[in-house]
Amino acid sequence: MSDRGGSSALTFACGAFAGVTAAGVAALWISKRDAVASKAPPAPATKSVSVVEAAEATAPAPSSGADVDVASSPTPTAPTAPLAPSKEDVTDVPEDAPDGCVGVKSEKAGKASSCAGCPNQGACASGEAKKADPAVADVKSRLSGVKRKILVLSGKGGVGKSTVSAQLAFSFSARNMDVGLLDVDICGPSLPRMLGLLGQEVHQSAEGWSPIYVDDKLAVMSIGFMLPNQDDAIIWRGPRKNGLIKQFLTDTNWGNLDVLLVDTPPGTSDEHIAIVQYLGDAGMDGAVIVTTPQEVSLMDVRKEINFCRKVGLPIIGVVENMSGFVCPHCSNETHILAPTTGGAQAMCTQMDVPFLGRIPMDPRVAQAGDTGMPLVQLCPDGPVAVMLGEVVDKILSQTDK
Ligand code: ADP
Repeated sequence: MSDRGGSSALTFACGAFAGVTAAGVAALWISKRDAVASKAPPAPATKSVSVVEAAEATAPAPSSGADVDVASSPTPTAPTAPLAPSKEDVTDVPEDAPDGCVGVKSEKAGKASSCAGCPNQGACASGEAKKADPAVADVKSRLSGVKRKILVLSGKGGVGKSTVSAQLAFSFSARNMDVGLLDVDICGPSLPRMLGLLGQEVHQSAEGWSPIYVDDKLAVMSIGFMLPNQDDAIIWRGPRKNGLIKQFLTDTNWGNLDVLLVDTPPGTSDEHIAIVQYLGDAGMDGAVIVTTPQEVSLMDVRKEINFCRKVGLPIIGVVENMSGFVCPHCSNETHILAPTTGGAQAMCTQMDVPFLGRIPMDPRVAQAGDTGMPLVQLCPDGPVAVMLGEVVDKILSQTDK
């Protein structure tokens, strides 16, 4: 088990992650089982890693904000600040700071009137809080062999983001590229099933956590591999999710990769802020945003685009998924999720971001997801595989290394 993340300076300086300390990291329960699940070259003396029992065994008191107690969540109040964080918000204001926090990097940090009663006041006043989070450097070093780092985002759930992530990963690896796929959808990990890896376990060795290999070109990491029971619900507040994301980034032994795809949950929340912060120095190539053609989905994508702009994350482009459905019997095309405002392409023109292509609605896509099959194998000449190929070409042309 790594001891990264153990310093209190780290815990605070990375304010959004207050409450995630070495205790949280050490909370991962290690069972003594042999390394049999991973198809990766076996590392010596590995142990499987489960997250839930450990979290329950050593969960901090609810007041730490890292517990699983939903009932004690605060009642939402009207926001007093802009909802999308700026880069400053992401890096400078601890999650447990009181209203009016001047930010840990401010000259007035620890001395302003709003600092009174803040649990971080001492660290701010002493200058400790200004120190960079060492995890950011750890992530940079851990990912030094990764050529491209790409986030897959969506404004809304259910638009096919994980499906597109999984199929893009298959498509990259079919081109003989070394691919990593990291699932940071902590509460709804679907990649183990979509990659055909249900029931596998993450193992730990001296080199870190071994991802699970689909084959020797495609490695996957997900909290789904750490659940003793697939139906377990992960009901975590932000700090605990952030702690696991940090550990995924600092401890997973990806080795050398041509591309690392990070599948995120929908929206612009804790997980996105954590990823953007921890990957800050490692160099992100940008985001691929997935939407359906419907205005109800596009309206959230505009927010996602604005989030990317605020945090300085380049936008590689937008994929429109679940576009027209071509009936296999009569060949008529039906727009089930009608593009009433012009669809993703029109939105891309309006928002000045690249459009990567349209993936049709096709029952074989759903079938591929349920069975963990690559569409490039299932129906290599079908419209979905062809479109995936075009999207991969566009991504590669924008992230040429
Ligand atoms: P998200 O990650 O955005 O929540 P998923 O990838 O889990 O969405 O997809 C939601 C559902 O839609 C799944 O059942 C998936 O199989 C199905 N799906 C996704 N894309 C397509 C498509 N192009 N055609 C048919 N079904 C699709």
